[in-house]
Amino acid sequence: MAARRHDLLVIGGGILGTAIARDAALRGYSVALVEKEDWGYGTSSRSTRLAHGGLRYLEQWDFGLVREALVERERLVRNATHLVRPQRFLLPVYRGSRVPAWKLRLGLWLYDALGAGGLPRPGWLSREQALAAEPALRKDGLLAAGTYWDARIASVERLCLENALDAAVAGAAVANHAAVEGFLRQGERVVGAVVRDVLTGARHEIRARLVANAAGPWLPELAGVAGVRVPHRRSRGSHLVVPNFLREAVLLRAARDDRVFFAIPLDGSALIGTTDLRDDRSPDLVRCDEEEARYLREEAARYLGFSDEVWYATCGVRLLVDEPGKTEGQLSRRHEIRDHADDGAPGLWSVLGGKITTMRQVAEDAVDRASVRLGARGWCETRDRPLPGAASLVRRRLARQGQAAGLSPTTVEHLIGLYGSRSAQLFEACAREAALGAPVCPHAPDVLAQVDVAIREEGALTLQDILVRRLSNGSASCQGEDALARVLARAAALLGWDDKRVGSEEAAYRAFAARRRIPSPGAALPHPGEGPLVSKG
Ligand code: FAD
Repeated sequence: MAARRHDLLVIGGGILGTAIARDAALRGYSVALVEKEDWGYGTSSRSTRLAHGGLRYLEQWDFGLVREALVERERLVRNATHLVRPQRFLLPVYRGSRVPAWKLRLGLWLYDALGAGGLPRPGWLSREQALAAEPALRKDGLLAAGTYWDARIASVERLCLENALDAAVAGAAVANHAAVEGFLRQGERVVGAVVRDVLTGARHEIRARLVANAAGPWLPELAGVAGVRVPHRRSRGSHLVVPNFLREAVLLRAARDDRVFFAIPLDGSALIGTTDLRDDRSPDLVRCDEEEARYLREEAARYLGFSDEVWYATCGVRLLVDEPGKTEGQLSRRHEIRDHADDGAPGLWSVLGGKITTMRQVAEDAVDRASVRLGARGWCETRDRPLPGAASLVRRRLARQGQAAGLSPTTVEHLIGLYGSRSAQLFEACAREAALGAPVCPHAPDVLAQVDVAIREEGALTLQDILVRRLSNGSASCQGEDALARVLARAAALLGWDDKRVGSEEAAYRAFAARRRIPSPGAALPHPGEGPLVSKG
């Protein structure tokens, strides 16, 4: 990466940075992409994991954003077919609901009309039909339920990874665990960045004609290093991960503040969230606090019957384009690409806002604009280009291959659902060495071969990379802790870790898992001395 000057250096390996690098590399630009932790480490992996238009934005009359996101939702279902699957949502209507049934039906019709027609049409269920579809719904006061379709992303982490893999196939130089610490200047012009290899401490100068800051909620501080101020708002959002109690995904409205939130069945778990709280702390410090967890549990319990057990919580930070006078929930999720030529830093751009769903469009806009500066080259290929796992995906052939390798139908389905056509390499490995088909722990259908692929083919360099962002085990009830011994032994053998490194990887992982547990009532928040959190509204 340091050996040549690139056209574009992209900072941040979240959904936006990886999508920009992919688009630019596919057009033929020379691209470098650096990520301080790992692909999808930041906000992207802590989201609700939906490819959606955002039904709630209709209430804000943001039809342009909804239309754009719905078109992109359909592209994602087509181009990342293994990872992004259509999902039906129920919208229960209770006696006294603030939004009357007629308005809801109108909203669903409009949402459908704004889409590109790729998913089933919305519908309406009687009280009895709604209860039969979702027995966890509370019966008292239930009148009916609307239904509509969006899509669920099985792993946003792997979506980021596949963007980065495709960028690399197209010639981009990509590096995770590579943090930008400063910028290279020629006069005022930004001509590259100083990048630290986080695992070795070595520093490298990476030169580029244009530098795009796509560092998500870390963007403002990084821009500050170049002396640039980016007006923004940061909002924290948490989800509870609980044992699954749902058959259907449900969209709910919190009674105490009228916010929309979701309860969504995942594989073996259910996700309840999200919140929307102003939070100006460093994104590295945020976590779901006890009060926030109580809010989500109590509001969900108004509509749904479920146990008190919470496995853990995820917490991410949105970087939003500031609009004075609006609360966090009212701020638009539109994206903005800022050229800092007038801020005393020509050559540096910031990409902020946006959504996972619209990542491809954000990238297309950013690279279109960059091509004016860099000189036109190629054309945008991402509208119809499948991601690596969706290319030549023939499920039936893969399923036969997986079962012939001795894997159970559940495991085979799981692996095809995460890796798509790339699961062929896992099945080949399991057929060659039966031990690689062994589960890594009892709480998720992941197998040992995935650890090999994560390290050999997918750039995983730490235990957290492997368990949380390559396998699904880090999202299971045990958060991957029950898989530590097996995975550590395999990773140590493949990566040459000594006992000291194994110890530090294990300690770091346990600290990460502990941070995601909800503090017990009354327990001190983990960052005493920091300012009070300003709640929405
Ligand atoms: P990030 O994913 O945060 O990526 C930025 C990356 O930059 C990070 O990985 C970070 O490590 C890296 N970085 C930071 N500093 C440096 C540095 N100095 N050097 C190198 N790398 C650096 N959108 C949807 O479409 N659907 C949803 O269901 C949805 N749900 C959401 C739920 C919540 C709670 C939140 C908070 C957001 C949700 N969103 C959703 C919005 C979506 O998650 C974000 O818009 C999107 O993930 C932002 O991606 P990003 O690439 O800009 O940021």
